Amino acid sequence: MQTGNLIGGEFVKPASGKSITVFNPADDQPLAEVPDVGEDGIARAIDAASKAFPGWSATPAIERAEILRRWAGLMLRDAERLASRMTAEQGKRLAEAEGEIRYAASFLTDAAAHAETLLGHQVPSPKRDMRITAIRQPVGVCAAITPWNFPSAMLARKLGPALASGCTMLAKPAHQTPLSAIAMAELGVVAGLPDGVFNLVTCDAKLFSETVFADSRVRKVSFTGSTPVGRLLMKLASENLVRLSLELGGHAPFVIFEDADLDAAADGLIASKFRNAGQTCICPNRLYIHASVYDEAMDRLRQKIEKLKVGPGDAEGVKIGPLISDDAMEKVERHVADAKQHGAEVLCGGERAKPQANGRTLADRFYTPTLLSGLKPAMAMAKEETFGPVIGAASFDTEAEAIGLANSSPYGLASYYYTRDHSRAIRVAEAIRAGIVGVNNGGVSTAQAPFGGVGLSGFGREGGPWALDEYTDVKYISTGVAEG
Ligand code: ADP
Repeated sequence: MQTGNLIGGEFVKPASGKSITVFNPADDQPLAEVPDVGEDGIARAIDAASKAFPGWSATPAIERAEILRRWAGLMLRDAERLASRMTAEQGKRLAEAEGEIRYAASFLTDAAAHAETLLGHQVPSPKRDMRITAIRQPVGVCAAITPWNFPSAMLARKLGPALASGCTMLAKPAHQTPLSAIAMAELGVVAGLPDGVFNLVTCDAKLFSETVFADSRVRKVSFTGSTPVGRLLMKLASENLVRLSLELGGHAPFVIFEDADLDAAADGLIASKFRNAGQTCICPNRLYIHASVYDEAMDRLRQKIEKLKVGPGDAEGVKIGPLISDDAMEKVERHVADAKQHGAEVLCGGERAKPQANGRTLADRFYTPTLLSGLKPAMAMAKEETFGPVIGAASFDTEAEAIGLANSSPYGLASYYYTRDHSRAIRVAEAIRAGIVGVNNGGVSTAQAPFGGVGLSGFGREGGPWALDEYTDVKYISTGVAEG
């Protein structure tokens, strides 16, 4: 298993004398040591990406696409191996990890397809002796900062469109989950990536952003993570006017109208809320149910939630893995305690879980999937992302009230609602303030669609042709044409 940094086409362990230990969140067993590089390691990665840029940007798009497709093919070939590595460092159940590898590969193939059809424009000119063309060119060296909750998909979602557009990249994975990123980088080399086109460094997060933004060769930074860090990056970006994509926190509402298919809504909620133990930025954090169906919908939900088995991600039948850290556990417990203090009723869960371990000593980092009734705006969970397997519900009486509740957050990433009324489906989709709307659909993530938020959830879109807009500049060429 490779554990070094990929810089300039080689796996290296730049000397800093320090390393980062990667642990399994399910049992706290150490998995590997990766380098904790200093400023010079990051600078070497910027040098390598910068040196590779002229050659890569001049490579025909069709050849760049070919390499991305080969890379995706290798990921699919090795999906089982990559998934088990991901489950070990991240905690999610194996089936989800394998799903994420396929999802990650689809970002590479989707970007490849758009690279081949990245069209410019010939614009009708107002003058007889002038022609107007607009072409798209890669922005240059890009940096990616990725989170621990989707360690392969979030990286692929950035490097796919960046490389497809002709940019080169250096990336820093989250310190909790660098092994999935390193495994991907290894396959990139096998797929035939020229040296320096993609570089991966493991280091202190703050040092990475400070070094990257201080180097005027880096023209674009794409970040997925928390809103406070997003704010910080925006400040740093102002010096060299670096382009940014920020996919930040969410606080998704999930609305069940009185005309909804209640079983489908319950399944949609389970799929969107409890995936990755509730640790996704598009997880619902607020459930609103029409008063006339509230008790029945809650009862169906409770029955389904109680069946979700908790345990290590590699154990049979497990649906909810461990939380990533003790801090994550503390936040979940704080939210539940605060909700109870505000009068919430616990319909199921509401405590730590002690899963069966078959002799293995597990970490105390498992939380029972939890359904709370009596959500109030003053509760911490109504304002902050819980990032755990907990959902609180409140009832509403009218469509206007539901829209008001859904829009009561400064975040605006995902939103969901269930209705069988066609006109209502359209009205609400238009009224809801979010980058992503799931109508009768709890599984909105797909590489072909534009993923991103509004408000405090950030800006920029990842997926589909929109992703390549983020990594290209439009150049306008005005050509004088003499009459013959
Ligand atoms: P999370 O709560 O999901 O860990 P963070 O925003 O803290 O969200 O982390 C997401 C990514 O941002 C990780 O790769 C992390 O290392 C990185 N990160 C955290 N702080 C900084 C920082 N000051 N500058 C750059 N990256 C950072």
